[in-house]
Amino acid sequence: MDLRRAVLDLDDVLVPTHEACLLPLAHRMGGDALVTLVQRYANAGFPKRCDDPDYDAVEAVYRALNIEGRLFEQPFPRRSRRLLELLPKFGYLPVLVTARRSDVAQETVSWLTEHGIHNLVEDIHVIGNHWVGEETETKGDYCRRLNAAFFLDDMPRYALDVAEKSPKTQVFLYGAYPWNTGEHTPACAHARVESLVQVIRELRS
Ligand SMILES: [Mg+2]
Repeated sequence: MDLRRAVLDLDDVLVPTHEACLLPLAHRMGGDALVTLVQRYANAGFPKRCDDPDYDAVEAVYRALNIEGRLFEQPFPRRSRRLLELLPKFGYLPVLVTARRSDVAQETVSWLTEHGIHNLVEDIHVIGNHWVGEETETKGDYCRRLNAAFFLDDMPRYALDVAEKSPKTQVFLYGAYPWNTGEHTPACAHARVESLVQVIRELRS
C-alpha cells in the first residue's frame, strides 16, 4: 500500500510546548506583569518573536531560566507517540515539521531520536524560524514538495500558507489557543481539531 504523507507540527500539536514552558515560567517568576508579558508573548507564537517590543526582556528571561534546555527535559507525550504509530494503519506516513530556530534544531532532533520518534516518522524536517529570518522554504512549499495529503498545525499563518501553496493537502488547524481563536481565527475556515483523538477520527473517516 502506498502511504500518503501526513505532515504534523511539533510545538503545541504533538508537544504541549506552551504548557510545558511558558506557564511554569510565568508561575515561577510570579508577578502579574511578567505573567502578562509571558502570556502575550505566548499568544504571539513560540519560539521567539523578534519584532515584539518586549523581545529583549523575554529573551533575557529565557536565557536566565534556560527555558530551551527545559524543553528537552519533557517526555514525548504518549498520546502523540500513539498517533504516530497509528497513522500508517490509516494509510499515512507521518512526517514531522518544526519552525524551531536553527540553534535548537540539533537538540530537537536528538531529543526526538532519544525518545524513539525518528523510527516512527519518515523525516524530521526543521524548516527554520520565520521570526528570525531563517525560513528556507515555507511549510506550504514543503507540503507541496511532499505532495502531502494531510497537514496539522496550531498556527494560522502556516495553515493559510499550506492551503494556498499546496491545494491538494487537507489542512487542519489544531487546538483552541489564544493565537488561533477569536480575532486570530484565520479568515479561511479550516477544519479545526481540538485533540489528537479527534485527529484519528478525522483520518478514519
Ligand atoms: Mg506549533
